[in-house]
Amino acid sequence: LGPTVTIGEILVEIMAETPGVGFLEPQPLTGPYPSGAPAIFIDQVARLGGAAGIVGCVGHDDFGRLNIERLQRDGADVSAISIHPELPTGSAFVRYRPDGARDFVFNLTRSAAGQISLDDAAKALLDRAGHLHVMGSALSIPGAWDLIRYGLDRIAECGGSVSLDPNARKELLSSHEAAGQFAAIVAEADLLLPSGDELFAAAGCEGEEAALAALFDQGVSEIALKRGDKGATVFRHSGERTDGAAFQVEEIDPTGAGDCFGAAYLTCRRMGFPPDRALLYANAAGARNVTRKGPMEGAGSFDELDAFIANTSRA
Ligand code: ADP
Repeated sequence: LGPTVTIGEILVEIMAETPGVGFLEPQPLTGPYPSGAPAIFIDQVARLGGAAGIVGCVGHDDFGRLNIERLQRDGADVSAISIHPELPTGSAFVRYRPDGARDFVFNLTRSAAGQISLDDAAKALLDRAGHLHVMGSALSIPGAWDLIRYGLDRIAECGGSVSLDPNARKELLSSHEAAGQFAAIVAEADLLLPSGDELFAAAGCEGEEAALAALFDQGVSEIALKRGDKGATVFRHSGERTDGAAFQVEEIDPTGAGDCFGAAYLTCRRMGFPPDRALLYANAAGARNVTRKGPMEGAGSFDELDAFIANTSRA
């Protein structure tokens, strides 16, 4: 089966070192770290040895090279990452509030990250994909829909599968057009990876039971619901439910947990692991990632996740 392919923003992240200090005064920063939800996701797939590729765009600068070199080193196919001749690589500045909440200053749609398009390299990668992972966040980029639509059609033709992380910004989904695109992806998805209320956004109704029923009616076969430090639950169309306890870790940086979780769950399922074993690795991947500063610095290989599982207690 062909590689797992995703589409969307590739960024660098630069973090304020001291929680509680805003960006209104000079202060120590750390980074740049490679980032962007689709990039984190695909890096974690590749770290697990899964065939992986991403359609994205970076600038002709160090931030772009940093991302391409990391993804390539970790084993991802970077042939469909284009290099924009003028615009800089996208960036996100993040700072943490004392309660752990995050504030971002994004440069996304007006950077190279916002310039993805259905070019020849993107078509070539999507033509050989065996699985398409769609990130709701990518729908903020104007060219993303053409790529997603093309990818969904190719996947339908080759009998591949589709997953969706419905992490689209709420304001975006209030637009009629984006809501229609989002619904079209849900209708073609086999696996959903929602976190919290995103389950309801994907289902178009409130209430866990009603939302699950609505999604299964539309042909979704598995839903892995992420619950942060409470772990996660997998619901299957067949009616089975599998709860996975969270690993007990000290959270250093929550960014990227959901992406690593989703990548590990999907990759394990594509490798033929049963849902409970896939969920174990997914919970481990999410938890391990929050113990490291930097959005994809904690993405682990199977050896690293096995060691983490052996040495970490669960709630
Ligand atoms: P998202 O980043 O998409 O909002 P979550 O915050 O729910 O997703 O994190 C995804 C998964 O990562 C969780 O289901 C859990 O397995 C793991 N995880 C996240 N935060 C923690 C934490 N503080 N302790 C342990 N596991 C965590």
